[in-house]
Amino acid sequence: MARIGVIGAGLSGLTAAAALADAGHSVCVLDKGRGPGGRMSTRRAADGRQFDHGAQYFTVEDETFARAVSAWERAGVVETWEGIIGSIAPGQGLAAAAASAPKPRYVGVPSMNAVCKLMRERLGVAFGVRIASISRREMQWTLRDDLGDDRGEFDAVVIAVPAPQAALLLETSAPEMAESARRAKMRSCWAVMAACPDLLPIEFDGLFINGGPLAWAARDNSKPGRPAMESWVLHALGVWSDEHVDESQEQAGNVLVSEFLERMDLPASAIGSWTAHRWRYALPDPALPSRVLESAEGSLVACGDWCGGPRVEGAFLSGIAAAHQLLEQFDGTSLGSGDGI
Ligand SMILES: Cc1cc2nc3c(=O)[nH]c(=O)nc-3n(C[C@H](O)[C@H](O)[C@H](O)COP(=O)(O)OP(=O)(O)OC[C@H]3O[C@@H](n4cnc5c(N)ncnc54)[C@H](O)[C@@H]3O)c2cc1C
Repeated sequence: MARIGVIGAGLSGLTAAAALADAGHSVCVLDKGRGPGGRMSTRRAADGRQFDHGAQYFTVEDETFARAVSAWERAGVVETWEGIIGSIAPGQGLAAAAASAPKPRYVGVPSMNAVCKLMRERLGVAFGVRIASISRREMQWTLRDDLGDDRGEFDAVVIAVPAPQAALLLETSAPEMAESARRAKMRSCWAVMAACPDLLPIEFDGLFINGGPLAWAARDNSKPGRPAMESWVLHALGVWSDEHVDESQEQAGNVLVSEFLERMDLPASAIGSWTAHRWRYALPDPALPSRVLESAEGSLVACGDWCGGPRVEGAFLSGIAAAHQLLEQFDGTSLGSGDGI
């Protein structure tokens, strides 16, 4: 049995951790946040509203991922979102919105982070721990946090954090991996969480908005299991977010709220209150072609949506690939056909 440290309790890290634990290894997950999910997080407001302010929904193409999603559905943490999705062309308003082709769109239930919460239940996860360095001595990897405290010695380490943060961690311990991680660029995303006093007169539950700072708007309470209070999430375009990444929450949020009201032809009173959140590393653009990065001797691996493909599905598949890589290294075996939870 190997002792394996996993940095990051987003979907990729937890997927890798669960697969490694299933194979009989001792796994310790460390995350700087307050809970699991990373970019699949959910923000809760004092009045009981909740907002999926990161990932909105996910789609399924790969068979392995499809098996995991079926298992999550059976476990009651995922359902299809039957919301009506549409798109608005540049220069157009809501009146000209066109319905998008229906396809299965999945969400966590009762919140986007439900899958990660389920996975963490059977794993040891330490939250509020920001790993600042990784070093190697006598065949062991040592992790230290940003206070300089030792967070354990491991036979292997999985780095499951966004590419720029992975590059920093890899700088001294595996410079060649750091260089690869730096090739995966990540765009930022400004998000607005808007609490509305009344139902907005918008027939769509999710809208792709083209031609302006906004890229997406969604009625969060149209997703299954959410509190019945009109709550919208707005996402800015990646290019716009990058250009405005250093603005204050108020500055960026004001632009996005004004744009939303204008494109939807709504009065300012349609939104009671709002708050903005900046995702500094939101989406890979581009991701690396490989699903996993590994060190020369194979016991340090990096994974995430920036390895091999974007989005929730890509993060899951990269986590599986990271576990696979370490299992081959330690056991000479690969993963079974488990369902990934
Ligand atoms: C605004 C937005 C909208 C999105 N919309 C969609 C969508 O609609 N559909 C879709 O499929 N995908 C979407 N995505 C992408 C999806 O959320 C990600 O692809 C996926 O969640 C990435 O998972 P991950 O495990 O690779 O990384 P993350 O979820 O980022 O997890 C990384 C974890 O590492 C932790 N961490 C980072 N550095 C350290 C450190 N030094 N020490 C300890 N812990 C650390 C973080 O706290 C985090 O929990 C969206 C993302 C964003 C931000």
